[in-house]
Amino acid sequence: MSTQVIRAACPHDCPDTCAMLVTVRDGKAIEIRGDPDHPNTAGVLCTKVSRYLERTYHPQRLLHPLRRIGRKGEGRFEPISWDEAMATIAGKLKEIAARDPRAILPYSYAGTMGAVQGESMAMRFFNRIGASRLDRTICSSAGGVGYKYSIGAKIGTDTEQFEHAKLILIWGGNPIASNLHFWMKVQAAKRRGATVIAIDPYRSLTAEKCHHHIAVLPGTDAALALGIMHLLVRDDLLDHDYIRHYTLGFDALRERVLEWTPERTAATCGITAQEVGLLARLYGETARRGDPVAIRVNYGVQRTHGGGMAVRNIACLPALVGAWRHPAGGILLSSGDSFPKRVALLERPDLAPADPRYPPRTINMSTIGDDLLRPASRDFGPAIEAVIVYNANPVAVAPESSKVAQGFAREDLFTVVLEHFKTDTADYADIVLPATTQLEHVDVHATYGHLYIVANNPAISPLGEARPNSEIFRQLAARMGFDDACFFDSDDELAAQAFDPEDPRAAEFDWPELRQRGWIKLAMPAAPFSQGGFPTPSGKCEFYSKRMAQDGLDPLPAYIPPYESAASAPELAKQYPLAMISPPQRNFLNTTFVNVQSLRDTEGEPHLEIHPEEAVERGIRDGDLVRVFNQRGEIRLRARVNGGARKGLVVALSIWWKKLSPDGRNANELTSQRLTDMGRAPTFYDVLVQVEKADSSP
Ligand code: SF4
Repeated sequence: MSTQVIRAACPHDCPDTCAMLVTVRDGKAIEIRGDPDHPNTAGVLCTKVSRYLERTYHPQRLLHPLRRIGRKGEGRFEPISWDEAMATIAGKLKEIAARDPRAILPYSYAGTMGAVQGESMAMRFFNRIGASRLDRTICSSAGGVGYKYSIGAKIGTDTEQFEHAKLILIWGGNPIASNLHFWMKVQAAKRRGATVIAIDPYRSLTAEKCHHHIAVLPGTDAALALGIMHLLVRDDLLDHDYIRHYTLGFDALRERVLEWTPERTAATCGITAQEVGLLARLYGETARRGDPVAIRVNYGVQRTHGGGMAVRNIACLPALVGAWRHPAGGILLSSGDSFPKRVALLERPDLAPADPRYPPRTINMSTIGDDLLRPASRDFGPAIEAVIVYNANPVAVAPESSKVAQGFAREDLFTVVLEHFKTDTADYADIVLPATTQLEHVDVHATYGHLYIVANNPAISPLGEARPNSEIFRQLAARMGFDDACFFDSDDELAAQAFDPEDPRAAEFDWPELRQRGWIKLAMPAAPFSQGGFPTPSGKCEFYSKRMAQDGLDPLPAYIPPYESAASAPELAKQYPLAMISPPQRNFLNTTFVNVQSLRDTEGEPHLEIHPEEAVERGIRDGDLVRVFNQRGEIRLRARVNGGARKGLVVALSIWWKKLSPDGRNANELTSQRLTDMGRAPTFYDVLVQVEKADSSP
């Protein structure tokens, strides 16, 4: 009997990117745990991933290529050979590419975060075809753009330093559910006497455990940041020396924030002026004492009309109080730009044919519902004729779901899905290809929540006939007749190309060695902006941004109200008076893990949290089935009447598989395809709905 322990990395869309140890006995994985020596993982995996073996050996795992035999969406397939599957796909893609290669669209996101099984060989393939490009906006692009206008890059406070902060603002996130190891640092900080404040419309598991919870209305975070700035200026809780040396545009900012009195801020955000005062006072006074103040701003802030501006504003706060002077001060949105990634080497955009008949076209993944239904036109280009989906589940995840499903149901659309399971999207595929899980392939991971590169070694052989994404695209390239040398790179060669060892941050990066060691930390300064050096055009934190003016935006921090709110759309709000958000359910990760029975059992059934007063007004009692609806659609959920959702708000924790929900739908029936102010991102939390008691079972 042979037992081995294999070093692996969690592949999921989570900032923690845990280092894992997989115990394998006689070719079967029998245990998975967090690496106790990895400083961020500290031996702990979240509940979801501690069930990874249940997911890997799931009885419904896809183990063979499939061809559709039922109607689109029905999910009826028959097994076929790999040879037949690849010949069918290559034949169809060649035929479409001969007409116009831009009619072919890749559709992918963060189903795996790995550099190898993510976009490497896949993008080489699509670039070589000259396919439409995909604007990968569905999660973080609004905040990323906003943050970079202020600070210059997605670089921030090292997560490991947060335990030394004296004040922590957790702004628009629920780390207990989706950034667990950061929460462990927060707990350590609390034990050392730190004050922790959650800013979130929803009283999440995290908000419950903080010293203060400021329950702003969705989409008003930018106004709250302006109100805090107003008080910092008014009460002179500023670090003048830091402002003078390392920021740009303070005088203009001061003028701007004069308008944002605590009263106006409170009225806009749906909170009290005292709450605005408390935040500003704690933030400014803690910093003035010389203690580190740190902000963890997260993805919830970004998912409304003004989401980019909200993050831009919040990112200005640390410079006002000189918080960057301390390793444990500052702000973290994402550590993604700390890594010297060699994206062009992996994805090879230079392979794209320069054919003047087919100028490059980009499709935004957040408007896939509309775009799949769009006919050919001069402005749009060719209608989409083929979609290859990998690492994504758009039928459940993309906004305005009924349109997405309608698009994928088009009889003349050729759809291929690389997957582990028959997801809502796979049900619409013409061909389904079984992909390997993280235990079955090689990969290497950067992250967006800490500063480690983490290696993933295969622990077991691929189950059934599953193949790694990289291998599927390598073989498809061969079928298409692409003989460029890059299509012959092995997965190890791809992993070795992922980071630049010439860059001093990754000087220790050596793939064969990393595979043995498991992880290495980037060489980043402890307090990256203690003496300015922001990667903005001016080298300063830009309160005034010339780039924003050039991009047609307000160059100063501003407030952009939600598309759908009582203030901005009063007529709509009369019909649909409740704001709805759909943040992550603790035991799901987007739609991954929803089909793992033990986790779904923990979550029960899809539900809607509603404030007791809103429930009473509608004659709704705890446990009632309710109809949640707006101009885009309706869903039925079980009401939970509790204090989780503030007044005026309902919360539908997500993202459920539609087919595993009693009514065959999920919260994205109600979300819209409107985009954010920057980054072309979706506005998942910019939604008005009405709720009523439903008469019958779904
Ligand atoms: S999902 Fe996040 S917390 Fe859970 S194991 Fe993966 S990286 Fe760690």
